[in-house]
Amino acid sequence: MSTANDSLVYLIGAGPGDPGLLTCRAREVLQAADVVIYDYLASDAVMRFANRQAKRIFVGKKGFSAHVTQEEINACIIQEARVPGLVIARLKGGDPFVFGRGGEEGLALREAGIPFKVVPGVTAGVAAPAYAGIPVTHRRVATSVTLVTGHETPEKNESGINWEFLAKGGDTLCFYMGIRDLPTIVRKLIEGGRAADTPVALVRWGTTPRQETLVATLETVVDKVREAQFKAPAIIVVGDVVSLRNDLSWFEDAPLFGKTVVVTRSREQASALSGRLNVLGADVVEFPTIEIAPRAMDDELTSAIAELSAGAFDWVVFTSANGVSCFFDMLCAQGCDARAFAGSKIAAIGPATAQALKARGLHADLVPPRFVAESVVASLSEACDLSAASILIPRASAARDVLPASLSEAGATVRVVPVYDTVMPHDEEAGDLVERLRSGEVSAVTFTSSSTARNFASMVRDACEPCEWPALLSGVQLASIGPITSNTMRKEGMEPTCEAPTYTIPALAHLVEDVLSNEKENN
Ligand code: SAH
Repeated sequence: MSTANDSLVYLIGAGPGDPGLLTCRAREVLQAADVVIYDYLASDAVMRFANRQAKRIFVGKKGFSAHVTQEEINACIIQEARVPGLVIARLKGGDPFVFGRGGEEGLALREAGIPFKVVPGVTAGVAAPAYAGIPVTHRRVATSVTLVTGHETPEKNESGINWEFLAKGGDTLCFYMGIRDLPTIVRKLIEGGRAADTPVALVRWGTTPRQETLVATLETVVDKVREAQFKAPAIIVVGDVVSLRNDLSWFEDAPLFGKTVVVTRSREQASALSGRLNVLGADVVEFPTIEIAPRAMDDELTSAIAELSAGAFDWVVFTSANGVSCFFDMLCAQGCDARAFAGSKIAAIGPATAQALKARGLHADLVPPRFVAESVVASLSEACDLSAASILIPRASAARDVLPASLSEAGATVRVVPVYDTVMPHDEEAGDLVERLRSGEVSAVTFTSSSTARNFASMVRDACEPCEWPALLSGVQLASIGPITSNTMRKEGMEPTCEAPTYTIPALAHLVEDVLSNEKENN
C-alpha cells in the first residue's frame, strides 16, 4: 500500500510537438516536478517548462532503435519514485496511453505500490492531420476514425491487426509508426477491399515548423513516398476526409510558415514580438541577450523619490518600459505610489513605455513622434521652457548620454538615476543557436536595442569558431528596430539588412513579415 510519504508519478502527454498544445495540467506538473523522465519528443521546447532544478533523465527511443528497453524504463521510474515525497513527471510524446506504452508503466507502478496519475495529451493521430487541414471525422464523409499501429511488436509473427475490418469498416484510418511498413499497409488495405483511389495523406513532423504533408492515393502513395524520400515520424491518414485539405489547409499557408526567426530580447520582454511572429506562422527561437537586473535602493534613489514626491521635478522622462516597472517597484518599496508624480509631467519615449505607464494609472503627457532621444529633446523644448526645467530620468545604468547631455545643453537641470542594469545572461543555449545558424535554418534575427546587438555578437562569437564570425550570418535577414541599433550592429560587424520605419515592436514584426514573405515569393 502507498503511504503519504510516497512519491507521486504523473504519466504525462507532451502533445505532438507544438509546445502550445501542452495541456495546462501538464505544464503545472512539469513546473512542480522534482524529476522529469522523458522520451524523445517532437519538441524540445516542452522541456523548457520543466523546473530548472529538476533532475532530468532521458530514456529516449528514436524510431525503431530502442536504446533503453521498456523494462529498464519501468525500473527507472520506480527507482526514482522510491525516494519519498517527490513529484515525478514521466513525459511522453502525444498521449501517454496512445501507442505510448503508458499503460505498461501504469501497471508496473501499480504492482510496485506507487501512486500515479495520468495527464492525457493531444495525440499526433488527430493533431497532425488537423494541422494539415484534415478533420479525422466529418459529417457525411467519415463517421468513425480508427487509430492503428503501423509497426507491430517484432516478436509477433501473426498480424494482430484485423485488416479486413480496417479495409471495409472504419472510415478514417490513422496509422502511427507506419512509414517503414507502408507497402504492406497499402497492400493489405487494397486486398481487404479498400478502393485503390482512396485518398491518403502523410503528415510528417506535424504541428511543428518542420511539418510536411504529402497527398496521394492508396495506389500511388508508395511510389510518391519513395520519390520524395519522405521519412518518419509521420501519421498516415487514409480516407475521404483527406480531400478536405484542399479547402481547410491553414498551418502550412501562414505567411511565415517554415521560417525561423530569432528574438534577442530579454525573456520577460520577448513575448510581444514572439507572439506576433508566431501568429504569422514563424518558428520563433527566443535567445535572450539581455537580462534586466533591478538596482538595489541607495541614497541617491531614496532622495530622488523624496524630491519627486515633494514636487521638485517639472518632468519625469521614461526611456523604456523596464525603467517604468523598476522605478515603480522602488516607489512602492519606499511606501509611495503614483501620487508621487502629482507635481510633475511625464514623457515616454515610445508607445510601449507609455503603455507601461498606463498600466500603472498614469497617462504620458508627451510621446514624441520619433522614438529616439533626439526627438524627445525637440518635443520637450516645444512643450516647455527647458532653460527653467528640472528633469528626472530613471533609466538603465548603461545608456546613451545624448538625452541628458542635450537637455542640459538646452539649460535644463537634469537628474539621471540608474534603476536597472542590463546584464548579459549566461546562456547555455548559445551553442544551440550557433548550430542552427550553421545549418542554415535561421531566416532572420531581430535586434530591438543596441545592447541586444552588442550582446548577441559577443555571445555568438564566443560560441563559434573565430573564422566563422560574421560569415555565419550571411544569408540571414538582420532586422533592426531603428538607426541607433543599426549603428551598433555595424560596429559589431553585422550589416543590418532592413530597418523598421518607426522604432516600435509592431513595426519590426511587420518588417520581418515583409522581407521574409518576399523571400518566399522569390524562391
Ligand atoms: N503517444 C504518441 C504516439 C507515439 S508512437 C501520440 O499519442 O501521439 C510514435 C509515432 O507517433 C510516430 O512514429 C509517428 O507516427 C507519430 N507521431 C508522433 N509525433 C508526431 C508528429 N509530430 N507528426 C507526425 N507523426 C507523429
